[in-house]
Amino acid sequence: HDLDLTCSGCGIAIQTEEKSEPGYAPLNSVIERENPVCQRCYRIKHYNEVAPVPLNNEGFQKILSDIGRRNALVVKVVDLFDFAGSWVKDIKKYVGKNPILLVANKADLLPRSTNWERVENWLAHEVKKQGVAVDQIFLVSAKKRIEIENVKTAIEARVGNRDVYVVGTANVGKSTLINGLLNSFGEEEGAELTTSRYPGTTLSTIRIDLPGHGSIIDTPGIMTTHRLTDLVSPKGLRDITPEEYINPKTFQLNDNQALFLGGLARVDYVEGPKQGFTFYCANQLNVHRTKLENADELYEKHLGTLLTPPYEGEEINPVLTNWVTHSFTLKSGHPQDIVISGIGWVTLRGQHYTTVKVHAPKGVDVHTRRALI
Ligand code: GDP
Repeated sequence: HDLDLTCSGCGIAIQTEEKSEPGYAPLNSVIERENPVCQRCYRIKHYNEVAPVPLNNEGFQKILSDIGRRNALVVKVVDLFDFAGSWVKDIKKYVGKNPILLVANKADLLPRSTNWERVENWLAHEVKKQGVAVDQIFLVSAKKRIEIENVKTAIEARVGNRDVYVVGTANVGKSTLINGLLNSFGEEEGAELTTSRYPGTTLSTIRIDLPGHGSIIDTPGIMTTHRLTDLVSPKGLRDITPEEYINPKTFQLNDNQALFLGGLARVDYVEGPKQGFTFYCANQLNVHRTKLENADELYEKHLGTLLTPPYEGEEINPVLTNWVTHSFTLKSGHPQDIVISGIGWVTLRGQHYTTVKVHAPKGVDVHTRRALI
């Protein structure tokens, strides 16, 4: 049983004895395959199965804390669709004095009309606000393999004989990025990291040699609980995860109107003149407009049927229906986004004095920011 083998998908130690324990793989699959994968990765890959996460956050943090003690190059990945939600707050603590390349991933989700220079300036501004120095910022799509070459070139220029650590919260696309980079570095098809829609796919560090350099190391993503994506069911996740360019939806709202984002959050326009509210959410998410005075009743009656996700008949995480209210008063000035972590944001052009309330599950991060787009 001491196999001394790790899963090439998620990095966990492989064992062939206990089916219900992490790292299990049937013995014959381990013998037959050059790059064996555990049963969990096999299922994620072939059946799109949900991946239960058998590790706790302390384990993740210990792995990350090691980086600061080494001489390394750090590639920090964030999700452009949820910048604040995917930002690792303790990044400085983890990486120590090592240089950071910031990769803002999932650029393919932003609308076609996006002004990329503006987004890049926005990122630089936000990163500075966090008090973190990064050497360079890249806007990429790991999935569509856009701008991966530039990341590769920057890594090559800096890496020397150091190792490259890829870090970020769960689900930002680290494994997808590494698969893309390996391809760019000319690695033949071989081991492929397991990627999935569900946070927490990579379980341990995975080290892959870069020809002529050190290694590239995938780290398990830090798990969070403040993103709606961390809380919804697999079916709900499908509804709130954008799969392609977002088509922003603008609603001309009068005050005393409300908009439901599925059954997961509600935006109330409390006070101000008629104006456009532009929503950036998954195109397939069902958005429902109503009068403010009818909103509570509508929720009571139609949660799970008209207002989905969550869905009637599925086991609903009680957190999802325990809403708290966030109040915002926006003065006229610059365009502002109100962000609901994991589901998207609404942009107000900043022309009027406006009062808005957002109702969202307790613990989900809701905040305003200078408009991204
Ligand atoms: P990790 O947990 O950070 O390693 O993230 P994964 O690589 O497993 O990716 C998480 C999810 O994000 C998967 O559903 C990926 O298909 C998706 N994803 C990764 N990169 C991109 C991207 O560039 N664009 C989009 N739209 N989705 C991406």
